Amino acid sequence: MSFDRQALPEPNSYFENAGLILQGRGKWRTTTCHFHGGRTTLRINLESGAWVCMSCGQKGGDVLAYEMQSTGADFVTAARSLGAWMDDDRTSAPATHKPFSTREALSVLAVEANLAAIAASNLAYGNRLTSDDLARLQTAAQRINLIRETYP
Ligand SMILES: [Zn+2]
Repeated sequence: MSFDRQALPEPNSYFENAGLILQGRGKWRTTTCHFHGGRTTLRINLESGAWVCMSCGQKGGDVLAYEMQSTGADFVTAARSLGAWMDDDRTSAPATHKPFSTREALSVLAVEANLAAIAASNLAYGNRLTSDDLARLQTAAQRINLIRETYP
């Protein structure tokens, strides 16, 4: 999740959409200041989005600062409402990020437990394990450990 400054709206359209009537020409425009009660003392820089009220002194460096101060929203909420907050889908759904489901994990555990039981009974009846059997048992232990690490 991250803030994308490039995605902030253009100052001109942002302030007009906020219901302000921009007066004047050039880089700096004048409009109504809603922070101190409606006089036309708010100066807005159309290039940077910076703004300052010549009467009450309320100010900010960009349209995001205006959004936060005029609505009381925090940084992320304001950035999101302006379309400049990028939600990362990968981090928003960690539960679906396991390499296998719990059902698959349980099924693997059952198979490996069965395999260990068979090996144990072979040993109990005096049958030696082959090197292949031993390697397979070590694989079983690795799989069980992997499941334990995946579902802490
Ligand atoms: Zn003001």
